[in-house]
Amino acid sequence: MSVFRKKAVWIGLEGSLREEVSKDPVAGAEQVRRIVSNCAEMGFNLIFPCVRTHDGATAYRSRIEKNYYGWDVLAVLCETAAESGIEIHPWFCFWGDGGRAHPELHGIDDAGKVINVVNSDCPTLCPLRPESQQYMLSLVEEIIEQYPADGFHLDYIRYMHSPCYCDYHRDQFRSRYGRDPVELDENSELWDEWNRFNADGLTDFVGRISAKVRSSGKKVSAALFPTGRHEIDTPDKPMVLDRIVPSRQMHPAYHVRRFWAIFQDWSAWCRKGYLDYAAIMQYTPRLDVVEETARSGPAAAEGAEFIMGLGLIWGQTIQTLIPQIQLCARKGLAGVCLFDYFNLVKWSESDRRKIIDTLNE
Ligand SMILES: [Zn+2]
Repeated sequence: MSVFRKKAVWIGLEGSLREEVSKDPVAGAEQVRRIVSNCAEMGFNLIFPCVRTHDGATAYRSRIEKNYYGWDVLAVLCETAAESGIEIHPWFCFWGDGGRAHPELHGIDDAGKVINVVNSDCPTLCPLRPESQQYMLSLVEEIIEQYPADGFHLDYIRYMHSPCYCDYHRDQFRSRYGRDPVELDENSELWDEWNRFNADGLTDFVGRISAKVRSSGKKVSAALFPTGRHEIDTPDKPMVLDRIVPSRQMHPAYHVRRFWAIFQDWSAWCRKGYLDYAAIMQYTPRLDVVEETARSGPAAAEGAEFIMGLGLIWGQTIQTLIPQIQLCARKGLAGVCLFDYFNLVKWSESDRRKIIDTLNE
């Protein structure tokens, strides 16, 4: 008997990881069954497999976007997870428009440039435009209507890294407050209003997604930025989730033009009851950083099950990971989620055994 109710793992099927599953439907289905049965053997009871990424290619049958594999990966995932008694929430990345299906909806930064997914040339849709939201909703609907999954997992459910100054944002804000937001900075009278306008707009959209997902009897989970410190913060330069941070006040690694923002006010989403599980991406080898999130996160996630997402990347080793899992158990967290399956299976058999034994203690 594990102290954790949720022993979860993300299954990355994006980018080069797509090659882990064959485009041949027979061989591919066999690989997917093996992945799920491996998860079951290791004691995981919740999986988040990636089914839609920023390039606009899917791992499911879509009428709107291209299925990367040409066969229905998600159908096999759902079927095998059900047979194994594993809860499954398809993991969906919002806003990326790598297929450039809707250039008229792309987000625009304060220099007038298209806002791309971080470290890529993949454009993103403006998260506030009704047409962007409708496009994303139509993809979400396809998944929840066609597949017997237990839930739906929201990722990149935030602004990518910059406020949006597209025509829609500017017109909407100007018509409500009488000022063009491009003229505002942290000393402006309407600065709080501009921040709230963005954060609340995203919160309202999460409410719509949540209602849609739940109308099909499914749960809503999300991959979220941590409360408290982030690994590359310094004590005087904390990350802020729900408002704009002038980039000069931030760690150089965050430097993105003049302003940095994600507007991910997930504590409000939990308070409003939009999320069933909050999975916090705290990927760091540092125990003190995980501890801070374990201390502040559950209160912020009130109303949702708090799951600590721990990385198998970025300098994490078996020596740093095991104390993190033990800490999460001591703090009584609902669960732990590892990032991700394909990293886990690359670790040695004995390290994997230690992880699994600790998760199941
Ligand atoms: Zn916009």
